[in-house]
Amino acid sequence: MPHYYIWTIGCQMNKAESERLGSLFEQHGYQAATTAEQADVIVLNSCVVRQSAENRVINKLHSLKPLKKLHPGITLALTGCLVDSQIDELKRNYPHVDHFFKPGEHPAWLETAGWQQTLPRHPSPAAFVPIMQGCNNFCAYCIVPYRRGREMSRPLAEISSEVREMALSGTREITLLGQNVDSYGQDLPDRPDLAGLLGELNAVEGLARLRFLTNHPKDMSTRLIEAVARLDKVCEQIYLPVQAGSNDILNLMRRGYTVEHYRQLISEIRHKIPQVALSTDVIVGFPTESEAQFRQTFDLLSEMRFDTVHVAAYSPRPGTLAARKFEDDIPTAEKKRRLNMIEQIQEKIATEINARLLGKTVEVLIETRKKGKWQGRTRSNKLVFFSGRDNHPGQLVNIRIEQTSPWSLQGSLN
Ligand code: SF4
Repeated sequence: MPHYYIWTIGCQMNKAESERLGSLFEQHGYQAATTAEQADVIVLNSCVVRQSAENRVINKLHSLKPLKKLHPGITLALTGCLVDSQIDELKRNYPHVDHFFKPGEHPAWLETAGWQQTLPRHPSPAAFVPIMQGCNNFCAYCIVPYRRGREMSRPLAEISSEVREMALSGTREITLLGQNVDSYGQDLPDRPDLAGLLGELNAVEGLARLRFLTNHPKDMSTRLIEAVARLDKVCEQIYLPVQAGSNDILNLMRRGYTVEHYRQLISEIRHKIPQVALSTDVIVGFPTESEAQFRQTFDLLSEMRFDTVHVAAYSPRPGTLAARKFEDDIPTAEKKRRLNMIEQIQEKIATEINARLLGKTVEVLIETRKKGKWQGRTRSNKLVFFSGRDNHPGQLVNIRIEQTSPWSLQGSLN
């Protein structure tokens, strides 16, 4: 039996696409290999969002050269964000790679063999469904629009039928994915939107929960907020990257909104969805960011009290506007100091938010079992561990929380 091996780094979108690709191989009689050395087909699913990620992909590509030389019959393919419009250059740089295909594209080299696009074969209880590719925003620091291209939404009917099939085969929770889900459908003839899509999917039998990410403060609509508040399967959780607490820095980042607009959005969300859990992203050390401007970010996070904050130190990505236009003038040690300050304040906030769940009973969707404990998530996306004998992945259980930390909760069946 032939074997395949898929190596993936990067975002949930890459993971979802690798999962699909794995299913495609399995439906054509391939078996998953645990190492590249055991495989007949190797696919690298790349990420370039940070220089460190791109370096890891390049190292991986180089590390596979001897294997390909030893066994020229192995098929080696590269996908993900490293594959942009410069495929000829990639071919020149990596002649040992047989096929290149863009993220989200059905690989043409498999199509010629009559292979069709497919759904994950063994969908997990909580699965990801890409609803669109690409981004039109061109934030100054971000390479994604250059690599993933302009926004291309999948038709609503196609997503809906895919989700129905996944629900039939056991998936209970779906997270809809896109770089900017708030502009879902804008490029389609009948211009559906995310609120409409959620309304349609909320009616899917067997499905218990719906989530979506990532939102953009510039594009998020009241209609979407009200859909989250109204639809019973849509979880009370919103991921809304702010990136900076200074209008001047937001302007340099080309984010297209002000801190005042962001604040107003959060207040509308909290008013309409009282139990909402909020997550955000921030970048520290963007070119020219002064101590006072950094403080504005720090103060905004302290005031907003997010459930989760993903913080990154700015690093220039060649090809982006920021890399072309600005000097990377904040020293690494200073970026680290700012990053640590954000991490520390966020740890304190998350500790306090999660401690409020002590003694409460929460609904958990069981996803997997690890080290003798069941692991699942609440509707607000908090990780919960508990012990139990007769449980199974995909089950919804009520758990009484007995221990909390900034990152997870522990409890027992209620
Ligand atoms: S919205 Fe901005 S940060 Fe997000 S993918 Fe698009 S360009 Fe990148």
